[in-house]
Amino acid sequence: MTTIENNLQAVRQRIAAACEAAGRKPSEVRLLAVSKTFPAASVREVLAAGQQELGENYIQEAVAKIAELGDAGATWHCIGPIQGNKTRLVAAHFDWAQSVDRLKIAQRLNDQRPAHLPPLQVCIQVNTDGGPTKAGVAPEALPELAQQIAQLPRLRLRGLMTIPEPAPDFAAACALHARARALFDRLNTQGLGLDTLSMGMSADLEAAIHAGSTMVRVGTAIFGGRTRAAP
Ligand SMILES: *Cc1c(COP(=O)(O)O)cnc(C)c1O
Repeated sequence: MTTIENNLQAVRQRIAAACEAAGRKPSEVRLLAVSKTFPAASVREVLAAGQQELGENYIQEAVAKIAELGDAGATWHCIGPIQGNKTRLVAAHFDWAQSVDRLKIAQRLNDQRPAHLPPLQVCIQVNTDGGPTKAGVAPEALPELAQQIAQLPRLRLRGLMTIPEPAPDFAAACALHARARALFDRLNTQGLGLDTLSMGMSADLEAAIHAGSTMVRVGTAIFGGRTRAAP
């Protein structure tokens, strides 16, 4: 087995163990392999190992990789910041956009989603810590944004995505993730029918699963440390 295959297996075992500890079924938690900064060859390895859901942060890097891999059966999730001048690329090349945090961006994605593709699957990124400089909509503004995005015909609102601050211990990490879970549950009581709570990364996936994550986004623990920063 290659290192990446080994790592992937170890991550799947961590997910299974965390589900068991939380009294949840492993089928309730999907794995997104975050391949940012890694070449198409690394992505081919995870695809060969049956891992089809892939996350990318840097849109131009991702579009080049998607083109290089062709129709390899991958599902591509945009998880990085989306500027207005990048919405056309996201709408044309990705299956999911998880980092939507403004109505203007959602409207552009809706208008630019090519007619031959199914609706773009969307998560709203929410800033549960309240850090003023962080990406993500403030929890107070979330309900209105969610209702507005849910009206857009070429988008399908699936849930929420969060990147909480690093926490000092498991209990603190669970408490941070529980905030996103509470927002998610509240939107569902308002009838939005959301099925995706995207939270948990290499360092905190156990706490995220404990708090109710349905999708963990794992880069380092699968592909190794990133030596290259944003292009
Ligand atoms: C890079 C990144 C990840 C993966 O982080 P790791 O710590 O490498 O697992 C997950 N989500 C987002 C939004 C990221 O930018």
